[in-house]
Amino acid sequence: MRAAVIHAAHDLRVEDFQNPPVGPNDVEVRITNGGICGSDLHYYHDGGFGAVRVREKMVLGHEMAGVVASVGANVTSVKAGDKVAVNPSLPCNACKFCLEGKPRHCLNMLFFGSAMRFPHVQGGFREMLVCSEVQAVKLPASMALERAAFAEPLSVCLHAANQAGQLQGRRVLVTGTGPIGALCIMVARQAGAREIVTTDLSDAPLVIARKVGADQAINVRTDADQLSTFNADKGYFDVVFECSGSAPALASAIAAARPGAVIVQVGIGGDVPVPLNVLVAKEIQLRGTFRFDAEFEWAVDFLSSGAIDVAPLLTEIVPLADAVRAFDLASDRTRAMKVQLSF
Ligand code: ZN
Repeated sequence: MRAAVIHAAHDLRVEDFQNPPVGPNDVEVRITNGGICGSDLHYYHDGGFGAVRVREKMVLGHEMAGVVASVGANVTSVKAGDKVAVNPSLPCNACKFCLEGKPRHCLNMLFFGSAMRFPHVQGGFREMLVCSEVQAVKLPASMALERAAFAEPLSVCLHAANQAGQLQGRRVLVTGTGPIGALCIMVARQAGAREIVTTDLSDAPLVIARKVGADQAINVRTDADQLSTFNADKGYFDVVFECSGSAPALASAIAAARPGAVIVQVGIGGDVPVPLNVLVAKEIQLRGTFRFDAEFEWAVDFLSSGAIDVAPLLTEIVPLADAVRAFDLASDRTRAMKVQLSF
């Protein structure tokens, strides 16, 4: 079985990988589609992010969909031949955060393709994946698997929206229009936002942002003044999804947010200075958001019903054998939104 394995920064190899045996509560999935995420790109370019470093070789990938190949003796929810989206989270259901109903903060979380733990949890960019039954979410037979592979990033954005609070009738700013920013636009639109403005440093994603629901898309590299018009009279936006993880974007968000606004920090970017005077004076609420819990199943429903149509975000599906080309393409924001591997 072949897999896309990161050995170190800039050392991504397609090589053989041995799966664990299928246990009685496990599902073996023949992966068809795997979306390349920003964190996969951080492993590829930088060998990790923040304190999370690749310390042993690791299969990348946590946005997967496929078809059930076989199931363990106790499995009842899916059978061979069923299409599934794979939830990459496997919380322990026993630690204090699991018992508080916040399994995303599980102290013993096993999350596919993550180097947060050691040994690392091997990811899903492989031809066959063995997961727990609870991670294999059954899809309608008619559902396109390349859409199902958006369930994970969409659930991140649904959780971010939950952190934001009410969106109906709100004026929303999205800073950074990669796949997560674009999905935040779609979630905000679905939730009844009154006006959505988005920013980026490249024109290509802004064109897509308009297609998926942004009212206004501003290139802050070439047209920063257009965003700063929103700073007048203590700011304009009720909610900001800061999806870039960059200091200038957070500063511009704080400037353009009105008093009492909620800024949800979705993007990660290490240590970033925060203009505290303005944050304090405008009573802005800066909130983190981390992964998702129940939102994964919501995302599957939104995608399968077509309520959220991710087709405009899919740039190209690249065969596993060309994984390095796929990662290079996904890294080029002028050419790519979401790139998937096919297996
Ligand atoms: Zn736990």
